[in-house]
Amino acid sequence: MSAVTLHRLEKSYDGEARVVAGVDLSIEAGEFVVFVGPSGSGKSTLLRMIAGLESASAGEIRIGELLANDVHASRRGIAMVFQSYALYPHMTVYDNMAFALRMAGQPKAEVAQRVRRSAEILQITHLLDRKPKALSGGQRQRVAIGRAIVREPRVFLFDEPLSNLDASLRQTMRVELAKLHRELGATMIYVTHDQVEAMTLADRIVVFDGGVVQQVGTPAALYENPANLFVAGFLGAPKINLVGGTLHSLADGSAQVDLPALGRMQLAADVTRARRGDPVTLGVRPEHLRVAHAGDRNVASARVELVEYLGDHLLAYLGVAGAREPLCMKLSGPTRTPRAGDVVPVCMRPEHCLVFDSTGRAFARPRVMP
Ligand code: ADP
Ligand code: MG
Repeated sequence: MSAVTLHRLEKSYDGEARVVAGVDLSIEAGEFVVFVGPSGSGKSTLLRMIAGLESASAGEIRIGELLANDVHASRRGIAMVFQSYALYPHMTVYDNMAFALRMAGQPKAEVAQRVRRSAEILQITHLLDRKPKALSGGQRQRVAIGRAIVREPRVFLFDEPLSNLDASLRQTMRVELAKLHRELGATMIYVTHDQVEAMTLADRIVVFDGGVVQQVGTPAALYENPANLFVAGFLGAPKINLVGGTLHSLADGSAQVDLPALGRMQLAADVTRARRGDPVTLGVRPEHLRVAHAGDRNVASARVELVEYLGDHLLAYLGVAGAREPLCMKLSGPTRTPRAGDVVPVCMRPEHCLVFDSTGRAFARPRVMP
């Protein structure tokens, strides 16, 4: 049985444009699902609707079997953790964690047991007597998570919980959240605009733009087979390289694409819905560009504009005729370092290339290369 089911869910504020525009989604029990998308894409609104902090304008929210649209937030079996921690400043950590249980009339012994057990899981037992102001940002966020755990909710909701932390602490907490999910086996929905958090934490990622689901899938599925240019560009840093071209000929499962710098390339793409002469966009990720050797095909001459040294890898930015922006090439392992000003031959393998139509929709990639 699904833990959370959204059916044609919509939200608009006072007759304005829809900020959540017809979301269909089924989240399995125990799943870690990440909502990712740019700022303003409706992620928080959707999470708040699931939590019951915001009403739905249309559609259904089910939590387990229960149709939850008209169920009060406190009765949905959901606990939410916010970016802002929202701890009670005058209470100790213990009291912050115990608060909701006391309000629910839980016996004192039960409250104590749950708070102690959650504190152990989060390794904050030594902080239980402190007030929030005597805690670091990371410790405060642990307490906020602890306050959710003690309630033993059916579903955990997180809204950008790590955004206030510095980069190294964010990474530590990210790993701990992944462990916590495994330990609790709980259903978690996690909102972030950070693609690294999305890729590393998610069983499945839901990519939003403009209140619309762009694609749902495992991190690998979305990275390797993005449904459209938005998803292709949103996941992956540095971003996927895009080059404009024209469809030359079509065959079953394969297309020839004319590209300004690379000439004609044979690509695996199901272009049955396209026509000869249609403009297309070719996408290739930085790790799939490399310096060409003798005998390579699909070679373009590139002028190195800039090289960034990043310890274990290099990024070279390449000027290529016909490409609107420099192409980014990621080089790792032992390799001759290109220098700014060099002209180098670069190439890519057809099976690494994605092809998008003029509306930005990806052509499917057949499994077998022609
Ligand atoms: P995200 O969390 O993805 O950054 P939000 O869900 O916070 O996006 O916001 C989505 C859109 O809804 C934004 O354009 C925002 O301005 C609008 N919005 C959010 N809350 C309200 C509100 N209470 N009244 C009117 N518009 C709102
Ligand atoms: Mg938000």
